[in-house]
Amino acid sequence: MTSLSEKELQEISEIVSSFPEEQREAKARELLQETSSNGSQQCPFCLMTEKKIQTVNVYEDEDFLGVLEINPANPGHILLFPKQHILNLSELQDSKLPALVRIIKNLETALLKIADGTNIYSASDQVAGQRYPHLVINIIPRYKGDKIHMVWEPKPISETELIQMKDKILSHMPKKLQKERLKDEEIILSKEIISSEQRFKGVVYY
Ligand SMILES: [Zn+2]
Repeated sequence: MTSLSEKELQEISEIVSSFPEEQREAKARELLQETSSNGSQQCPFCLMTEKKIQTVNVYEDEDFLGVLEINPANPGHILLFPKQHILNLSELQDSKLPALVRIIKNLETALLKIADGTNIYSASDQVAGQRYPHLVINIIPRYKGDKIHMVWEPKPISETELIQMKDKILSHMPKKLQKERLKDEEIILSKEIISSEQRFKGVVYY
């Protein structure tokens, strides 16, 4: 998604390089938004992939790039994204999912060695807080008393509404996964029956 001309990118690059290193990425994002020649926003994650914005990388392979957020929620805040310009996880090829999960696991494991906990989240669409239409997974190290608040006010919902919502979600999932999910429910149910029977007999398997 590089809709700017070479000249425009050159100008932005010159302006950005006059700023202290730690401010460059933020300044580049700002200028790219202002300068975009077709009125749409230039995608900073594509520019990072193309090495047109300087980044501090913690992971890179042919499909994914993991960089340190320069305006972090906490130091060590990682932005992990595909090099392909896609909106969200639903647009990611299934063949790339195992690699993505493995990378997330390894980055989270590393952060857990230096922090007290982590949050992992991804926003899809502006209404969810997505600023650029490019899939990004935020992996945020958490520390006791770090004053980050990820909160929402719980909304009341009835059991009927829960079941209706379940049906609605399942109707949009691949048939194969719906069957697997049902199988899982049956297994859980049968495990519960077995364990309650065994408990009744005084035998507990956990
Ligand atoms: Zn992009």
